[in-house]
Amino acid sequence: MSRRPQIAIDGPVASGKSTIARLIADRLGYTYIDSGAMYRALAWAARKRGLTGRQEEEAAALARDIAIRLEPIPGGGNRVFVDGVEITDEIRTLEIGQLASELSAIPAVRERLVAMQQEMAAEGGVVMEGRDIQTVVLPDAEVKIFLTASPEERARRRRLELQSRGTDVDFDQVLEEVKRRDHRDMNREHSPLRPAADAVHLDSTGLSIEQVVEKVLEIVKERCG
Ligand code: C5P
Repeated sequence: MSRRPQIAIDGPVASGKSTIARLIADRLGYTYIDSGAMYRALAWAARKRGLTGRQEEEAAALARDIAIRLEPIPGGGNRVFVDGVEITDEIRTLEIGQLASELSAIPAVRERLVAMQQEMAAEGGVVMEGRDIQTVVLPDAEVKIFLTASPEERARRRRLELQSRGTDVDFDQVLEEVKRRDHRDMNREHSPLRPAADAVHLDSTGLSIEQVVEKVLEIVKERCG
């Protein structure tokens, strides 16, 4: 039996992946999967145990031991659970983002989370977003989008997102965080952030959300009929 299409959207911090991926999933009636939330969930559990990004073996063991579950919110994002405890909002901090980025550079951690993500997408009908979805997790995805925007535009978006959650941070601090996380994600040895050879590149700087969604839907139509 042939599976339904898989749509892989990758890109750097605050490139608009989540917003776009959610809207595309909603329009197509597909399941949205936020792979970054899984690395954040692991970071949340690691922080609770006092682990740092340097404790590779402990982090790998933790990734094997805990149960991370994503539950789609109709028309929205994902609710996130670790061992049955909901942590959806708690994982959206700068600190958890940094620790997630550090832990995600550990090969055994990636191995475990990638296997979970592949299982979640096995039947297709999914829009999965992250850093290595088109290159590692779903290399046979029908649609591969590499979404970018300038660092300043992304820092502006990230700051707005943090402000909407009640955290006011200096623009320069956010810009620095964006650049630091990009640098680590793009230069790590294992599964660095990069486009697949057959990816469509989309720069969203100066485009409205609706314009980006329309462009992606056109690409989906071209590739999936
Ligand atoms: O997408 P988000 O910013 O929530 O992801 C948090 C961190 O998790 C990223 O900075 C990245 O280091 C890591 N990540 C990853 N591979 C993915 C998704 C996220 O390495 N597929």
